[in-house]
Amino acid sequence: MNAEQLAADLRPKVRASMAEVRSGLERLARIPSMSAAGYDAAPVQRSAELTAELFKAAGVDARVVGRQGAHPAVVGRVPGPPGTPTVLLYAHHDVQPPGPRDRWQTDPFEPTERDGRLYGRGTADDKAGIATHLAALRAYGGTPPCGVAIFVEGEEESGSAHLMDYLVAERATLDCDAVIIADSSNWRIGRPAITTTLRGNALVTVEVRVADHAVHSGAYGGAVPDALMALTRVLASLHDDQGRVAVKGLKHSDTDGLDLTEKELRGYVGSRPSVKLIGDGSITSRMWTKPSISIIGLDATSVQEASNTLWPVATARLSMRVPPGQDAKAAQDALVSHLETHIPWGAELTITRGPTGEAFTGATTGPAYAALKAALGAAWGTEAIDIGQGGSIPFLFDFARTFPGAALLVTGVEDPASNAHSENESLHLGEFENVCVAEATFLGLFGATRRS
Ligand SMILES: [Zn+2]
Repeated sequence: MNAEQLAADLRPKVRASMAEVRSGLERLARIPSMSAAGYDAAPVQRSAELTAELFKAAGVDARVVGRQGAHPAVVGRVPGPPGTPTVLLYAHHDVQPPGPRDRWQTDPFEPTERDGRLYGRGTADDKAGIATHLAALRAYGGTPPCGVAIFVEGEEESGSAHLMDYLVAERATLDCDAVIIADSSNWRIGRPAITTTLRGNALVTVEVRVADHAVHSGAYGGAVPDALMALTRVLASLHDDQGRVAVKGLKHSDTDGLDLTEKELRGYVGSRPSVKLIGDGSITSRMWTKPSISIIGLDATSVQEASNTLWPVATARLSMRVPPGQDAKAAQDALVSHLETHIPWGAELTITRGPTGEAFTGATTGPAYAALKAALGAAWGTEAIDIGQGGSIPFLFDFARTFPGAALLVTGVEDPASNAHSENESLHLGEFENVCVAEATFLGLFGATRRS
């Protein structure tokens, strides 16, 4: 089947249901479904129920399912024509907390259109993933040309702790030949992408102690170190002067740089003009295929409470991103042994290992990958590229373990300006139409392949 022709046939059908799909997305985005600990669980339940209702209206026999101590998920299945393969469509209906309200130009839970973008928490990450699946199903009037299973979880933003439980319990409903994880980003406006690598992560908390109690800094300073002096030295040893990670035993692979310029990157992050980029090699390899270590928290006496005192203890939390191809636990071991060998003046170290998540390298061959690549290219009218992401989706391993024969395909609903997890999150509505056309086209192309 010709991908271009199929995409051209499907586009008017996607457009015809867009008002309905968008209204569903806006209803979802009005629900503050934060899954993090400490937030009200009732909205997460409501977003699960609405997700199931929207899939039912799109022709899927969807239901809300729960597990002990977990936020609810939504599962469903529509059989394809005999002999066709089945794709599992994944998204998540929970969201990140909105952060300070005054940093948002409009109410985070009242979706608002400005300049062709729909603003609001979850309009992109990842309620747009749900909306994409709805649009693809609606393009076929609820009877897709391949088998479709859906799985929409409610605790991705808080770590997907029960995802494996759900996959095992619902295996019969979710069994599949390929998985589309609609929770990543395209390369840029006008350029679709498949995410084929993701870094893993490893957390470490390091406490440095130099004394049993605090003492007068005038009386003892000069002979006795304070805890922050020791901690900042060991933290400074993690990078060289160019900002390259200095921990031994980590993989660093350079890849051909994609056309991301320093200027664009600075625009995305709001870098101060005097601040230089760190690391070496192509800009994309620094974020995708090399390790990074960030200091994400520090417990020490605050400036407001500071007095002329040598403080005995200080603590930092480190977040390491682990390059594809490296075991996350081994990378965490390398970081721990670096800290142990670089602590100055015999200060006492207490290291607490946090969770690790494995890096991901996806398939770039096979019928599902080929169908997706062709579908994306046809929807945008330009070839899709393979990209990496610096962040992690540790649960991909749960899918790989549960459905070992299935191709895992990570697709984008976001673009670089979507501001997922940050204030003023938004969805580019023009790109969103292409995302929907591409997924509908994929269903057709994948249905034309046969189960092996
Ligand atoms: Zn997400």
